[in-house]
Amino acid sequence: MHAMPICEEPQTLRLLEIARAIWQDAGEVTKKSLAERLGMSVSSISRLTDELERLGVVIEAGTHPSSGGRRPAVLGINASLGYTIGLDIGGANTRGIAADLNHQLISTVRMPTAQALESPDNLLNLERMVRRTIHAGGLDPHRLLAVGVAISGVINTNAGVCRFCPNIRGFNDLPVRDYLQERFGVPVIVDDSVRTAAVAEHRFGLAKDMPYFLRVAVGVGIGAAIMLNGQIYRGVDGTAGELGHIQVREDGERCNCGNRGCLEVLASGPAIVRRAQQSMAEGIQTSLETLVKRGQKLTVEAIAQAARQGDKMAFYIMNRTGEYLGIAIATALNLLGVQEVIIGGGVSQAGPILLDAVERTIRFRVMPALAPKVRVHATALDDLAAARGAAWLAAEQLFLPQALARQQSILDIAGRIQPTHRAPQLPQLLKGA
Ligand SMILES: [Zn+2]
Repeated sequence: MHAMPICEEPQTLRLLEIARAIWQDAGEVTKKSLAERLGMSVSSISRLTDELERLGVVIEAGTHPSSGGRRPAVLGINASLGYTIGLDIGGANTRGIAADLNHQLISTVRMPTAQALESPDNLLNLERMVRRTIHAGGLDPHRLLAVGVAISGVINTNAGVCRFCPNIRGFNDLPVRDYLQERFGVPVIVDDSVRTAAVAEHRFGLAKDMPYFLRVAVGVGIGAAIMLNGQIYRGVDGTAGELGHIQVREDGERCNCGNRGCLEVLASGPAIVRRAQQSMAEGIQTSLETLVKRGQKLTVEAIAQAARQGDKMAFYIMNRTGEYLGIAIATALNLLGVQEVIIGGGVSQAGPILLDAVERTIRFRVMPALAPKVRVHATALDDLAAARGAAWLAAEQLFLPQALARQQSILDIAGRIQPTHRAPQLPQLLKGA
């Protein structure tokens, strides 16, 4: 059955705006805090939230612990309306999560990334991963509301396409968004995994109260997400944030982007291992020799551990890696006027030797006005951050005015699901509010 479109009248837009504000801070927001945030009176807010409750979009989700008197009700979104899926497709591993509309995780799936030989198989694998995540949570496929896909690479979010995806074969220019939208009939967003991780930092992590920060991912590759005034800055066609391709050594090795001496060829995980191998080949003494002789693999973790235990060569490599990162990050901070840096990705777990070197180098290199304020943090989120951020961005689609025209807004969804609040009645219901 087809629902009638909800008119984009001011009242409808207002309801959607309030629903979005409740969704963002679901489980923490009260009518009073909403009124303060949106600059409205508590009575106007109450009228609108009552309407949203009648429509089945908003529910009272417990009470807020207040200092005295009657505890105010905390608002949330009616979680029975459905759930969203977030995928994070990495070079080695894929993660999928399902989350309800109040940001609670329902299911998680982790598996090795399927490396397809033929490009179309990659689309099929994505579709399978969505279904697998739905299945893992025992969820009703009909209650799927939106899908977010995070991929590491140059992603054109507007086109829903990965333009350059060096870590996964056969992903370049695949119509990821259009394909999944067609298969599942829900809004789909595609974004770079470091950007979706930054969204997760901003919502669930260390950056909750940081409108400006740089989220850096150091692993097989190096990338960054730029958060300015609470908004991710993507640049033209999604090309912003290529921190890994800032040149830090003019005479450095060739990078796969065609340049020389990019940060990525000096400070990524593979670069760290390569430098340790070179140093050993040059006969520099290190405790790592015994590890290699035992037939064990040389990894960033092993090098970091040797550095912590006082191995000079390993310390030099980790310290130098931190300095290279610091040089590139300082350049970015000088340009953006940002003070907070959050580092994630495999290499970020190397510990204080690396992070101290990053912070020291940044302080030394940024403008004096910025230097004392710069802070470098290791992420406090786990490996699901990028998938959670993708699910967040997907859910956000349901609360944007554009969703009304496509009948995919949360108001449309509530109207379709609740028999007593079917969409044809909505304009009528909204008018008197
Ligand atoms: Zn490069």
